[in-house]
Amino acid sequence: MKLARRVSSIKPSPTLAITSKAKAMKAEGIDVVGFGAGEPDFDTPEHIKAAAKKALDEGYTKYTPVPGTPELKDAVIEKFKRDNGLEYKRENIIVSVGAKHSIYNVGQALFEEGDEIIIPAPYWVSYPDIALLASATPVILETKEEAGFKLTPEQLDQAITPRTKCVVLNSPSNPTGAAYSGEELKRIADVIVRRDITVLSDDIYEKLVYDGFRFESIASFGEEIKKRTIVVNGLSKAYSMTGWRIGYVAADKNLVAAMTNIQSQSTSNPVSFCDKAAIEALNGPKEFMKEWVAEFDRRRRTIVDRLNKISGVSCLLPQGAFYVFPNFSKLYGKKTPSGKVLDGSSSLAAYLLEDHKVASVPGIAFGADDFQRLSYAMSMKNIEKGIGRIEEAVKALH
Ligand SMILES: *Cc1c(COP(=O)(O)O)cnc(C)c1O
Repeated sequence: MKLARRVSSIKPSPTLAITSKAKAMKAEGIDVVGFGAGEPDFDTPEHIKAAAKKALDEGYTKYTPVPGTPELKDAVIEKFKRDNGLEYKRENIIVSVGAKHSIYNVGQALFEEGDEIIIPAPYWVSYPDIALLASATPVILETKEEAGFKLTPEQLDQAITPRTKCVVLNSPSNPTGAAYSGEELKRIADVIVRRDITVLSDDIYEKLVYDGFRFESIASFGEEIKKRTIVVNGLSKAYSMTGWRIGYVAADKNLVAAMTNIQSQSTSNPVSFCDKAAIEALNGPKEFMKEWVAEFDRRRRTIVDRLNKISGVSCLLPQGAFYVFPNFSKLYGKKTPSGKVLDGSSSLAAYLLEDHKVASVPGIAFGADDFQRLSYAMSMKNIEKGIGRIEEAVKALH
């Protein structure tokens, strides 16, 4: 069968690939420490599960409105008001089958051939491919580790051309954990408004911030930036609901209407009983979040301390999400005991996994070959064990 050309322009998600390889090794009985995970290790809170069970028991198992029920949209609107000081109407909201699906729908509704989509690197793996699937051109802008992996307003300004449609911002970031302060966002917003482009703001890690960091959404700096902002958020990371597949967008009503049309011809509504769980998550108690953030924070400090003690490895202390992004480039050029030369993040990841049973995601997947992404969404005990193995692996190089 001859496949469509668009398929050859994209690759399978590399983060899912490494997780599945590590899982396969585990299934064979191999004791792998998996730093690859892109999801919290906590269980979905009971009150949220109970809402879904109740919905099922009450027969809430049929088609629902394509962009989400009015009740769910209202819960999302309340969330934006409460957390971000943003006012939206139902016509500005669409709920989809996870935030990835939300971003995909944005791509299909907004991007087209000839459009340039500015994506700061290190980037979340799906942004370039979602642009490519919409026939647009990803324009990758490298950010510097010294600049905390953050895009500067000057850098953005210089990269904008008459073809620029959109810039993608993700704060806190997957993979670096970097988070933009309100002041930094405001300066970027000024460029976006002055050059009249749109911004896709992926706020999915909003709730996972440390050291008293105050999250702000770029859409909150006035009407001019708000009307150019597509806010993406979802329940996966904040509520540990990755499998439930609920994400949402707040944006200009014309874009939301177009996305709703597209969704009506593909997935239709988000799963009915997950919609009830999402309402409970958004409107319900949130005490558990404080505990989760405190636990992530402890792990974050431990993993960063331990990594920085390994000779040849350096790691910034991230302000958000549950990833660290250590620099391993000083080890490149060295040889493994079996004689392989480490020539970049992929060969390092392969060495760590095959010879030392530690799964990490090579930085090249995020457009930054000097680094590995390690997730600390696992027990402290496993973190200690895994970092111990990385220490051994590095010591064995010559
Ligand atoms: C996990 C993640 C998403 C997608 O989450 P869904 O599970 O699809 O809701 C989107 N953006 C970033 C940066 C992520 O890490």
